[in-house]
Amino acid sequence: MKILVTGGAGYIGSHVAKKLAESGHDVVIIDNLVKGHREAVLQGKFIEGDLADKGLLDRIMREEEIEGVIHLAAYSLVGESMEKPGMYYENNVANGLNLLEAMVKNRVRYIVFSSTAAVYGEPLEIPITETHPAVPANTYGESKLFFEKILERYDQIHDIRYISLRYFNAAGADSSGKIGEAHDPETHLIPIVLEKALGRRENLYIYGDDYPTADGTCIRDYIHVEDLADAHILAVKALKDGLDSRIYNLGNGEGYSVKEVINTAGEVVGKEIKAEIGERRPGDPAVLVASSEKIKKELGWEPLYPDLKQIIESAWRWHKGGGFRGND
Ligand code: UDP
Repeated sequence: MKILVTGGAGYIGSHVAKKLAESGHDVVIIDNLVKGHREAVLQGKFIEGDLADKGLLDRIMREEEIEGVIHLAAYSLVGESMEKPGMYYENNVANGLNLLEAMVKNRVRYIVFSSTAAVYGEPLEIPITETHPAVPANTYGESKLFFEKILERYDQIHDIRYISLRYFNAAGADSSGKIGEAHDPETHLIPIVLEKALGRRENLYIYGDDYPTADGTCIRDYIHVEDLADAHILAVKALKDGLDSRIYNLGNGEGYSVKEVINTAGEVVGKEIKAEIGERRPGDPAVLVASSEKIKKELGWEPLYPDLKQIIESAWRWHKGGGFRGND
């Protein structure tokens, strides 16, 4: 299939684009490079552009004869979304609408959407299944939930079929060593811990140790970015094969506390990584762990790297290698 990947120069998008190309699809990437990296585009045709540009989207769909879309272009920082909500609604909702309208106009019928566990808000029960109420606690999660609602309508009215993938905590890096996580500024736990281990960062703070968990720190479900990417390939194929629209969680079903992550990272790098206890971060639920039984059962998805140590090892190879600077 010929597939347009929006945000294909970003962390998850670059891994998705690589796997798509490796599994025989034709890939066209659009990315405005605000968060993405040109060096992260390893395969396919690259178009530097913004989803605010309706004319460009229409032209790409038509001239490239796009058959399906994987939509990852978005802002994704919880903290920022609570300071600048307009930025999130504009990019994650309004710009996404431009994409859908261009799809309608050019009769592109399939879309895989990059959603998030943040749509659930504070969980009522663990593990979280897809039927858990979606009551987002922040603008980021809400912007993604709004877009899921819009997808539902476009399916009903315009016959665009979608699969929405609600990611838990993406982590790790591609085994090639050529792409990995590189945010600026970095806010995610595993890269921050590894930067601290490399001496590239002075302080590592644990955001609160008074949560109602065994060691008092927050528990998350970390999923290898390559396993996430595989799910997108399965989802595109399922849509093409006639599956109707639906939502899937993506996680390993195993939760690790912040302290466990830091200790495991210490084992990987071979030395203790020192952390200080800081304030809680607003909007952080104590525990987020996925049930991914639905996608396992229906699409046969199975994570290849479910083990936290393996995930951190792959991230460590990437960070030790210097990230994109190491590819210069
Ligand atoms: N966290 C932390 N220190 C940091 C960064 C993150 O203690 O410097 C915690 C954060 O509060 C959360 C977990 O690590 O409980 C994962 O955070 P991350 O930002 O990686 O992902 P999120 O869960 O927000 O998607």
